[in-house]
Amino acid sequence: MHIAVAGAGWSGCHIALELAGHGHRVLLIEREADIFNGVSGSFGIRLHKGPHYPRSRATRDLCATSLQRFCARYPELVVEHEAAVYAQGSLDAIGQPSKVSGDVFDAVCHESPECRRIDPGEWGYRNLEAAYDLDEPSAILGGRLRDYFRARLAAAGVEVRCRRQVLEAHQAGGRVRLALDDGECVEVDRLVNATGYQSLVAPAGPVLDVVYQVCLGLQYEDSQPGQKPISFIVMDGWFPCLMPCVDDHRPSPRNYVLTHGSYTILGSFPTPGQAQALLDSLDDGFVESRVRPLSEQQMCRFWPGFRPRLRYTGWKGVVLAKLRTRSEFRSSVVFEQAGIIHVFPGKITHVLPAGDEVLALLEDRDCIVKDGLRHVRGGVLDRARGEIVEKPQAGEANTADLQTHEMLRSTEHV
Ligand SMILES: Cc1cc2nc3c(=O)[nH]c(=O)nc-3n(C[C@H](O)[C@H](O)[C@H](O)COP(=O)(O)OP(=O)(O)OC[C@H]3O[C@@H](n4cnc5c(N)ncnc54)[C@H](O)[C@@H]3O)c2cc1C
Repeated sequence: MHIAVAGAGWSGCHIALELAGHGHRVLLIEREADIFNGVSGSFGIRLHKGPHYPRSRATRDLCATSLQRFCARYPELVVEHEAAVYAQGSLDAIGQPSKVSGDVFDAVCHESPECRRIDPGEWGYRNLEAAYDLDEPSAILGGRLRDYFRARLAAAGVEVRCRRQVLEAHQAGGRVRLALDDGECVEVDRLVNATGYQSLVAPAGPVLDVVYQVCLGLQYEDSQPGQKPISFIVMDGWFPCLMPCVDDHRPSPRNYVLTHGSYTILGSFPTPGQAQALLDSLDDGFVESRVRPLSEQQMCRFWPGFRPRLRYTGWKGVVLAKLRTRSEFRSSVVFEQAGIIHVFPGKITHVLPAGDEVLALLEDRDCIVKDGLRHVRGGVLDRARGEIVEKPQAGEANTADLQTHEMLRSTEHV
């Protein structure tokens, strides 16, 4: 088949390779000047083992089964850590205890066989109930990631067109007609929407409750870099997270990103355009006077060694689509509607099962239609439907409802 893939982040690039490997003719279309210029190429990306999602069984199960496949498929892109610490915080930024009990967090961390419990005090941490070192790796970013995929896509015969936006797609006579922003019309057998669910979005239905969030990453340079990077993640609630950003070939990784469960998620909106408008309105003054001090203060509450060791260098922001679910489910979800196969973004290791599901839909292997969405029997949407449709209860804190920008603006003069 002749297949167009819109969007060249982790989902689009992996799926384009997968389709080409199965003999399809693939056209990959990206609106930015290069591949991996969006969310996928910019932020610190851990190859999750699971404990980041202590309340989402479905996400953890997929993390566990996808990580090994990912490391076998893309070994050059996997960065081992010196330490990958997951900790249970005593109280979060609004004085709430962790959303999971000590027993549950302990059990979830030990789902990874390499997990070892550590003494938080000995490691220089404070205000924690427990901490675990998990041997969780990260993925390469930036120029190194781009170079790798450019070479792989070229070798696989994928045609890559950057600086081209897919404006519309219509099914006509069993084919899909795409309108590009340069006026060109392209006709293909099928279209895969890998735009991070930011374009060509399917009409809203009862299953997928989508929010678009403005997510910031505060960037730092490590003044004491080791041979391998570290990560430190406090769970589960409005807690901080430090992860490496390995985007060059230097022997000692220096770049890090600090995020926070609430302070770096600035707003939640029904459309990508509304989220982008907030992102476009942010300036250094707001981020550095409001978001940065609160995020650093929270990190230092748990790791006082953060401030003397890491030096602030700037910030970046993106719009990310998330599903609003009670469990904070974060896996990729694949479904087809009106001739377009949509890949809703999730953890990057989950691009492997997403690729399997795209192929199954194309080959019409064991597919079902429910609530107007064609999807794979036993695939993520089928298996995790219970978690996907369960919404937060009234008054229950959920990341998908965060409006931190409003909160910070309203307290600006206090
Ligand atoms: C702060 C932060 C931290 C994260 N940490 C982790 C982590 O530790 N581990 C993890 O696994 N995941 C993490 N994620 C999530 C992960 O980065 C994303 O889910 C994943 O990168 C999404 O990949 P994608 O290819 O689906 O989408 P994207 O990377 O967003 O790619 C979509 C592409 O489509 C292009 N596009 C959009 N519209 C069009 C159009 N009309 N025509 C053509 N092109 C178009 C965009 O320019 C973009 O390049 C994190 C995300 C954030 C924001």
